[in-house]
Amino acid sequence: MEIGEKAEQLLKLELCDHCLGRQFAQLGHGLENHTRGKIVKKYGSELKEQHFNERPDSNIGGECGVCNGVFDEVGRYTDMVANSLERYQLETFLLGVRPPVDLIEKEEEIWEEYGVEFTEPIKTELSRLIGKKLEEVTELNVNFERPDIMAVIDMREGKDRVELQVNSILFYGRYNKYSRELPQTEWPCSDCSGSGCDSCDWTGQQYKGSVQEIIQRPFIEQSKGIDAKFHGAGREDIDVECHGKRPFVVEIREPLVRNLDLEKICQEINKDDRVEVFDLKETHHDKPAEVKQLEADKSYRAWIEIEDLEKADLDALKNLEGVVDQRTPSRVEHRRADKVRKREVRKVDWTIEEDLLVLDVQAESGTYIKELISSDEGRTNPSVAGLIGQSSACVQLDVTGFHIPGDDE
Ligand SMILES: [Zn+2]
Ligand SMILES: [Zn+2]
Repeated sequence: MEIGEKAEQLLKLELCDHCLGRQFAQLGHGLENHTRGKIVKKYGSELKEQHFNERPDSNIGGECGVCNGVFDEVGRYTDMVANSLERYQLETFLLGVRPPVDLIEKEEEIWEEYGVEFTEPIKTELSRLIGKKLEEVTELNVNFERPDIMAVIDMREGKDRVELQVNSILFYGRYNKYSRELPQTEWPCSDCSGSGCDSCDWTGQQYKGSVQEIIQRPFIEQSKGIDAKFHGAGREDIDVECHGKRPFVVEIREPLVRNLDLEKICQEINKDDRVEVFDLKETHHDKPAEVKQLEADKSYRAWIEIEDLEKADLDALKNLEGVVDQRTPSRVEHRRADKVRKREVRKVDWTIEEDLLVLDVQAESGTYIKELISSDEGRTNPSVAGLIGQSSACVQLDVTGFHIPGDDE
């Protein structure tokens, strides 16, 4: 259908400027549909594409059998959203609209009759107009990729409400753990599975606190978020201390406050002797996956009990360096596939401390250190026990370093 012919036919429907103009939404640049509607009304069957360069005076709103005058409500909807955003500290938003079902049906009837060429959906026009007005009223900015908040106006019959989806804020940092009685993440009580009972003092937790809990509490308090998720770069056992600054990301869900005083949070966390955090900074939403998949060499210090330390040929320990075959350890067999993994031990060094062998090991990500010492009944080869021909047991273990590629520390 020619533009002029389409205009002539549509004019008979006595639409408002918005609904008329919207049928030509892809023609002209930098003007709104209600201005297009004015132009269509002026030229009728003589309408040409270049007429959309004109800028006649135009107004929002107007009565109409298609949109039922919904554009008269733009101001009210804007206030509704602005009010619902008031309690949040924000910089950006994205607005969505669910128009009344009735309007969508009438719009589809017009498209069937007069074609979809040059048009745009009414919901696009509504969200753009209300979004622009919201930017003026609130001084926030629209962001399509990663808004602080997503607001959807439900205009459907009987609804008339705003739904909010508040995006998380994320912080990256590194931590040390100075306790052999502290789990990394929250650990539900084994008697009550977390619901609370006498044996856990109604905390629902098996242990008093966790690295996760100590780190996330000040974040939640300051941001007034509803809860948090903790993502560590690998795990350490409860009885393992970490002095190597393990990377982590903490994700705060539905915060009211987004600009946090990280120095204060850092001080608050470090008041607890069991955990120390370093270099807190805000980060992006891909960081948890990045941290979880981080394949960094790690350094460990292990205190090892040897059957007869005096008779042990410790020089043989140099042969630990190189490729090690590790069959899935018996202690994790029930939750990991049973297979042999090849890992590289980069460097070993040792001293004697009283009656213990103290071993420093740098190894590839994923090396099982306790098994590298005990041999796990021959499942790990070579091993400390295998090389010196005596039973050897790791009695204490520390993580002493993370060797992150591109990291100067
Ligand atoms: Zn209309
Ligand atoms: Zn319990």
